[in-house]
Amino acid sequence: MPLQSEQLLNLVTKYNVPGPRYTSYPTAVQFTEQFDSDVLNSFHKNRVRERRELSLYIHIPFCFSLCWFCGCTKVITKDQGRGDVYLDYLEKEMELVYQTIHPDSVFKQIHFGGGTPTFLTPDQLQRLGMIIHDQFQVHDSVEFSVEIDPRRVGEEHIIALKEIGCNRASLGVQDTNEEVQKAVHRIQPFEQTEKVSGLLRKHGITNINIDLIYGLPKQTPGLFKKTISDVMQLDPDRFAIYSYAHLPSIMPAQRLLNEADMPTTGEKLNMLVHAIQTLPEYDYQYIGMDHFAKENDELSLALKDGSLQRNFQGYSTHAELEMIGLGMSAISQGDALYTQNEKDLNAYYQMLDGGRLPIKKVLSLSDEDHLRRELIMQIMCKRKLDYGQFFDGDRSRFDEHFSEELSRLKEFEMDGFVEITDTGFNITDLGKLFLRNIAMVFDEYLKQKLHQTAYSKTV
Ligand code: SF4
Repeated sequence: MPLQSEQLLNLVTKYNVPGPRYTSYPTAVQFTEQFDSDVLNSFHKNRVRERRELSLYIHIPFCFSLCWFCGCTKVITKDQGRGDVYLDYLEKEMELVYQTIHPDSVFKQIHFGGGTPTFLTPDQLQRLGMIIHDQFQVHDSVEFSVEIDPRRVGEEHIIALKEIGCNRASLGVQDTNEEVQKAVHRIQPFEQTEKVSGLLRKHGITNINIDLIYGLPKQTPGLFKKTISDVMQLDPDRFAIYSYAHLPSIMPAQRLLNEADMPTTGEKLNMLVHAIQTLPEYDYQYIGMDHFAKENDELSLALKDGSLQRNFQGYSTHAELEMIGLGMSAISQGDALYTQNEKDLNAYYQMLDGGRLPIKKVLSLSDEDHLRRELIMQIMCKRKLDYGQFFDGDRSRFDEHFSEELSRLKEFEMDGFVEITDTGFNITDLGKLFLRNIAMVFDEYLKQKLHQTAYSKTV
């Protein structure tokens, strides 16, 4: 792959358009407030009839201070008493959700995301763990991960997390350079991150992911190289290296960033290429999009054996589990229906006070959505498509149904992203950088050009 060539920069410029990250298909922008409550009720009635294996996502929205690049749904406050109130409501929500699942259903995956889960005090974390274990059945070998802000965590937090079953941690780092940190309003000395990583390992939470962002103000390829070399000392199992998505019209906090300080597309590409070229030298495999994992990590193994999947948390080995999201703005992902909770904290509380599940938006998947979801997930996770897997192997129906899409693939073939075979296509090493663009061809909603401006650029 001619990674540093002018040709690559030309391709990036050509294909750098707004596009979904395909953590789901259809994507969250298609969810609607105008839904038929009978559809939702019957979905829950069906779910309660059958024992299932589930994944639990809990959104903790609070943060002590605002990072100016942030696109998460959060509430900035220093009042940790708000955590107690929030837990009261999470408990109410769990009681209502419990009535919609079979009593023998078991949670095999738990994730606390935010906001900042470690905004909660150690006692509050303990209480949250107790509520979960009281209300739901948790599998003995549950994969239990928590997003950690190293600026806001002490040893007591880590002990509490370990006691409630946490076995994976994701550390938000973004960049280790102080000038970049000042430019984004997130001061986090590397020693602090190093200390938290050490404490996690000391208490037996040894599966560690590091989150970085490239494309932030004041970042240069040289500084980003240094960031990678700094965090490599922590020996994480996984890296998530996200491209900064600058969408100030949707995320007003981003207006605080100085656009003149942002790296150019060429510099951003340089940072991504550096990560893709350097990490394999340290035994990390490029999983796709923004994810890297050690060769022996479950994500790498899943990529090799074809079981890799994608859900709202990114790449996963457990995406086949139905996901139940709790808390303000959380998304639940069933096979036939997606739902999203109320994004406004007071409205979320009010719905629960009224004894109702705080669901604000719903999307019921059509047969066409199911078909295209399967196809797009194969592109994102398997990096190839076998047309024979669709329409019961009836190739002429596939060719007819996707005639427009197949003809659009020819341009990707000419640009070296795909190799078209008699039975489908394979995505090349170069094409791995453009997975979103390839998947977008099969996105029916983008054909209608609906909501496209709500997405970040693809590269
Ligand atoms: S990046 Fe994390 S800590 Fe910063 S404001 Fe966003 S959610 Fe909060």
